[in-house]
Amino acid sequence: LGDTIGDNFDRTVQAFGDRDALVDAGRRWTYAELAADIDALALGLLELGIGKGDRVGIWSPNCAEWTITQYATAKIGAILVNINPAYRAHELEYVLNQAGIRLLVSADKFKTSDYAGMIDEVRPNCRRLEHIAFIGGGLWKSLVDNGKQADPAALADIRLSADDPINIQYTSGTTGFPKGATLSHHNILNNGFFVGELCNYTEADRICIPVPFYHCFGMVMGNLAATSHGACMVIPAPAFDPKATLEAVQAERCTSLYGVPTMFIAELAQPDFDSYDLSSLRTGIMAGSPCPVEVMKQVIERMGMAEVSICYGMTETSPVSTQTRADDSIERRVSTVGRVGPHLEVKVVDPETGLTVPRGEPGELCTRGYSVMLGYWEQPDKTAEAIDRARWMHTGDLAVMDDEGYLNITGRIKDMVIRGGENVYPREIEEFLYTHPDILDAQVIGVPDERYGEELMAWIRMREGTTPLTAESVREFCAGKLAHYKIPRYVHIVGEFPMTVTGKIRKVEMREQAVSLLG
Ligand code: ATP
Ligand code: MG
Repeated sequence: LGDTIGDNFDRTVQAFGDRDALVDAGRRWTYAELAADIDALALGLLELGIGKGDRVGIWSPNCAEWTITQYATAKIGAILVNINPAYRAHELEYVLNQAGIRLLVSADKFKTSDYAGMIDEVRPNCRRLEHIAFIGGGLWKSLVDNGKQADPAALADIRLSADDPINIQYTSGTTGFPKGATLSHHNILNNGFFVGELCNYTEADRICIPVPFYHCFGMVMGNLAATSHGACMVIPAPAFDPKATLEAVQAERCTSLYGVPTMFIAELAQPDFDSYDLSSLRTGIMAGSPCPVEVMKQVIERMGMAEVSICYGMTETSPVSTQTRADDSIERRVSTVGRVGPHLEVKVVDPETGLTVPRGEPGELCTRGYSVMLGYWEQPDKTAEAIDRARWMHTGDLAVMDDEGYLNITGRIKDMVIRGGENVYPREIEEFLYTHPDILDAQVIGVPDERYGEELMAWIRMREGTTPLTAESVREFCAGKLAHYKIPRYVHIVGEFPMTVTGKIRKVEMREQAVSLLG
């Protein structure tokens, strides 16, 4: 693999220089061309005085320059700080200061958000921010031009090692305020590589990446998995668009497609879905949140992704810890998150005692190995809460492991509902609601209740052209099939769920809204 992301990338360029590396809205790069652009930017950054350990922020939707910046910073040992493109000014300010960013790379050409305006607004409050390079703008162009004139030997002189921090990724903020996971070359390069191994990637693969690069799903499982195997990265659109994604798969003959479950649901629900030629698809990854069995089945049958795999992980672990494999039985591939990845360890413990629970019983999932982050950036207390002295990462997720080591994620500890003393796992009820023909998507939360402590509320998105269900009709549907304490008392029909930009459902926000709805 090589010790660092730069070493690994150079090996790929040596082996596959003339093959496609990257496609973005009609612009194309071979590996040799991409390497030239990356080196030019890396050298330009050095000339500007940015070097090892300096934080470089990137605040932009997906585009080729995102990837170029990712590898250019890795080559010079600067720490790339991924900033969520959906952030508003005050969140941007927090990250700029928290991570001590010296150079911010951003985009003013995307109409989705007023990046330039928000940067102007917060700049006076960010004293460590020295430079702003808008992609394609004045500073960006001069960095690249200077880099092209510079002596490439400067890159060879930089001494980097596998354990250097190279990336700060903020968690999705699904359960609270995002935390900055600090990751090394060793962490994310290995993770990208092994994810690619389990997908059986070779230089013949073309991976469609509609998930955001700012998140590990895009930049590690997407970009690093691709570049460590000589595969091609295909960017369908700056932000997720189901139509553009299907079009890109067809036009670029992609062999692999990524998404969180809500993205696959949106693609399958396109009215002209059947008119796309998706026959090139072989595999792909569904991850990020619970993957409904029904959606997995449709992805295999209707999208032809026979080898699709489910990954489970979190930003703090680079991210992937477990993954299904092409040779797992179909039953396990649709209904579990697979087994532990190569060179990693997992255990399921009783959160109170810390002792490993028997197979088949739920507990908190803990993971250990090369993938565990260096720590939360400048938050040693939070790091100590998450990683124990034996280096186990406590995930906050509930899991059950079967006799053969396959895991099921039954939910987050924070989302578990305790109704009248019974532990209820919303996931189980959601899976059941999916089997209703008129239900497009369902989420279950706990809401405060005087009598039972908590009561269940189902949020439901109906399929187009169906009549909205009532609480009665939902309860009737569940009656006799779910234990009485698992049947939702309240039903709330919605068009969309509150979501993070990574497409995860924010149950925290749903609970807040539910309280005022019921109030
Ligand atoms: P925050 O930590 O800020 O609240 P987050 O945990 O959603 O946000 P990420 O690191 O992006 O931030 O997501 C990791 C979490 O996503 C896991 O802890 C788990 O709850 C969930 N997750 C990831 N993959 C799966 C999967 N295949 N099945 C079920 N849940 C998953
Ligand atoms: Mg988390």
